[in-house]
Amino acid sequence: MMDVNAFDFGLSDIRAFNYPPHKSFPESVVAQRRVLAKWNRLRESLHYRTQLSLEQTAALQFDRLSLLIDMAFITHPFYHELYKSVGFRPGDLVTWDDYNALPSISKSDIASSWDMFGSSRSMNRADCYSSRTSGSSGRALIVLQDSGTNDCGALFYLRHYEQMLGRKRAASEWLYEVYLAPPRFTSFEGSFPVFTISNQCPPDLAFKHIARLKPKILSAFPSYLSRMVASVDNLSSLGIEAICTNSESSIKAERDRIAEGFGAPVFDEYSSEELYLIATQCREGSYHIVEDNVRVDVLNADSEGRGEIVATSLTNTFMPFIRYRQGDVIQISGKAHPCACGNHFRRLSSFHGRADQVLFSRTRGAILPDRVMTLYTHTLFPKDGRIAEFQIVQNEPSTIDLFLVTESIDRTYNESRVEAFITGLKDILGDEQLDVRVQVVDAMPASLSHKRRLVTNRIPSS
Ligand SMILES: [Zn+2]
Repeated sequence: MMDVNAFDFGLSDIRAFNYPPHKSFPESVVAQRRVLAKWNRLRESLHYRTQLSLEQTAALQFDRLSLLIDMAFITHPFYHELYKSVGFRPGDLVTWDDYNALPSISKSDIASSWDMFGSSRSMNRADCYSSRTSGSSGRALIVLQDSGTNDCGALFYLRHYEQMLGRKRAASEWLYEVYLAPPRFTSFEGSFPVFTISNQCPPDLAFKHIARLKPKILSAFPSYLSRMVASVDNLSSLGIEAICTNSESSIKAERDRIAEGFGAPVFDEYSSEELYLIATQCREGSYHIVEDNVRVDVLNADSEGRGEIVATSLTNTFMPFIRYRQGDVIQISGKAHPCACGNHFRRLSSFHGRADQVLFSRTRGAILPDRVMTLYTHTLFPKDGRIAEFQIVQNEPSTIDLFLVTESIDRTYNESRVEAFITGLKDILGDEQLDVRVQVVDAMPASLSHKRRLVTNRIPSS
């Protein structure tokens, strides 16, 4: 198997930031060859699917859903009990109304029935890729994907990279990843190789290595890319053609700054461990739902069409997630005309992070993150604020902590910008008595998780 970590070009320091191979789900040449064969066979039809009409896509999804749901009812104890309780029988799924009437499930439903949900009679769990996800409940959930599901995920990413490039990707072109874990595939028998470093790697070392490896695609946390833009010159000399950001929330102004620094377009993505790739941004800036990976609907939409996401993974047959509510608030665009990028998949006009990114107001209740996002975009983010990083953390209804890492080591920042943020925040929360505590720190506290969230609500749920 091709050892991608050997491509250090004499920069042995970079090896300290490589990941050792997955232990629990080791990569094999057989699996690499299998995915490559699937990609070569399906590449064109994967792209073609994005050109189908809304009706054609919905019909394909429905076929897949009715089979998946019948199968889950027959073989999966959790879904059998759940659907039996509403009188479901195999073959009952005839219209979308039937699908929409099926019960939805949340992470806590899964956690309280874990023995049933995690069990499968026919397969060894050791043969599955497993990942852990935590959420506002603080409860970890283990997501298992068998190798067929895992292959599908790899194919969707290969398509996404070509959508970003706007062209066919040559098999020799590298992807460079800054991530928390090694990739599931480091290459496909040497094709489409991936070099991965941890986000602990100093940006100037990453720059030197990227300059030698010459990848075309960069995939990283927005916070890491922002650090690179702030501390390394000449990023546009790297020849990166497309960048994707993931895992953390970021704002458009930040992604624009990254695009300018690298001289390459930035494409954000929206994904979760449970559902994998949910939506990817196109060159027009739209977030297209990955309709052949996941069926997305909005539960209890308000008058503007906003509501909680309820979604079904169309690919995970081993551990099905059917009508799963993962807690994000979304809005599906009602625009009927196709996007100028040529992709006909539906678009999300907004998605508002997880429930734990929703601040709480003593007078107004839940505050969706978009207004707070607009506020910090215009107050904390502008360059003259001299703020390198910030996080907004609410531990109790009456108090919000604003953590700041300043750009200069003398811990000075633009106080009027911060004042404007505090005034605006009290206004949005309708709470003049709100206590906003500014905490200047050298680095973000480790307790704020390894992934950055700009807004975190830590009020214990009752
Ligand atoms: Zn588009």
